[in-house]
Amino acid sequence: MNYLSTRGLPTQGSTPRGFSDILLEGLAPDGGLYLPERYPQVDESTLARWRGLAYADLAFEILCLYIGDLPRSDLRVLVDKTYTKEIFGTSEITPLKVLEPGLWLQALSNGPTLAFKDMAMQLLGNLFEHELARRGETLNILGATSGDTGSAAEYAMRGKRGVRVFMLSPIGRMSPFQQAQMFSLQDANIHNLCVEGVFDDCQDIVKAVSNDLDFKRRFRIGTVNSINWARLLAQVVYYFAGYFQATRSNQERVSFAVPSGNFGNVCAGHVARMMGLPIERLIVATNENDVLDEFFRTGAYRVRTSADTHETSSPSMDISKASNFERFVFDLLGHDAAAAARTRQLFGEDVPRRGGFTLTPAEFSRVPEFGFVSGKSTHADRLATIRHTAEHHGITLDPHTADGLKVARSLRRPGETVLVLETALPIKFAATLVEALGREPERPAAFAGIEQLPRRFERIAADAGAVKAFIAEHCTA
Ligand SMILES: *Cc1c(COP(=O)(O)O)cnc(C)c1O
Repeated sequence: MNYLSTRGLPTQGSTPRGFSDILLEGLAPDGGLYLPERYPQVDESTLARWRGLAYADLAFEILCLYIGDLPRSDLRVLVDKTYTKEIFGTSEITPLKVLEPGLWLQALSNGPTLAFKDMAMQLLGNLFEHELARRGETLNILGATSGDTGSAAEYAMRGKRGVRVFMLSPIGRMSPFQQAQMFSLQDANIHNLCVEGVFDDCQDIVKAVSNDLDFKRRFRIGTVNSINWARLLAQVVYYFAGYFQATRSNQERVSFAVPSGNFGNVCAGHVARMMGLPIERLIVATNENDVLDEFFRTGAYRVRTSADTHETSSPSMDISKASNFERFVFDLLGHDAAAAARTRQLFGEDVPRRGGFTLTPAEFSRVPEFGFVSGKSTHADRLATIRHTAEHHGITLDPHTADGLKVARSLRRPGETVLVLETALPIKFAATLVEALGREPERPAAFAGIEQLPRRFERIAADAGAVKAFIAEHCTA
């Protein structure tokens, strides 16, 4: 399988790129995002064969369709050591809980950092270590986090050979639990940098450092952000796993409701649907930062400014633009050379120059063919949903999952089977849970007293120069 860029890389005469080529890259050189040339089609007999496979076996089958340049036996080993009961808590890996007939929660957050990002990041850590060893290279991962991404990346990369992590976070802005998770790591290859600023400052520093091409090359700077194709691919697996658990035959169709920020999670659902998984609808749930809900209602994609980006009680969905969204637009426009030209205009010109774009009525009219619908949830909705679910179902939701359930309930049609993706455990966002329920959420035993563990972090000025100096000092160029 070869990969192309949403902005038309292959028509610029570059050599085809395989999975291993793009694994360690972020954006394509033309500024686009990588996608496979075509989506492998999963027919009836394949679905029948996959139903009943253990999670790791299913993951192996799906990954094999997209990874042509890694020995099968190596991939097998990497997948088997990633998706285990020891790491994800149950042998199902992503078990379902029923809320009421036809309405399910799919648990994606029983990995090491209690958020769904572990599902992909744990595999990425093993893939990176393998690929770097094969090439005889090392990589310094530089990232910015407001919480879940940073801890998922650090727990995936800790102790891995050939990889160092430099993770910037805004000082004092993460939840106490998230801070304890990250700062208690004692691994020598993990560096927590607490920036005297807000999340946008952290992101700006990452951009500034990455734009210094000489520094980037010299110190082999890489990223693990949500536009990485391997992360998206790993997430495709749990849509299949959820489908098989919720249905008895491959004639049934289900819908997924997905708490969304950067459009990574639900984009994986889109890929699963493009492959032929019988998905009826993909229900995009946003919080008050509703750039995606606005698009799916109107066809207008309007990037928010920092000042227009709200700090909400579902902070992992507080985004100003949805960085994976370009992938869907490229598919909507036809996934071909003409689509790439139009995508280049929309995301390469209109977004940076005019802050967004509006699709033509003809373009926008195709959205329903892709199953997408959307809705929005607010702080009050979130609290009400957490309360209602605790009272009526005895289940404690995290604020992001509550957004997903709220929107699922408001859009669900009679008879429609909906799986709401649970994206984090409530303990990560205890303050909001106390506000909703008047009590602290349950804490998994492995996390008892993590706030009391010794902490390892560096305080640093909101300045790219200071961050570069820190990196230079902590790795041998
Ligand atoms: C990252 C995250 C999201 C948003 O996922 P996207 O892939 O960015 O759409 C939602 N909920 C939680 C808990 C997260 O950590």
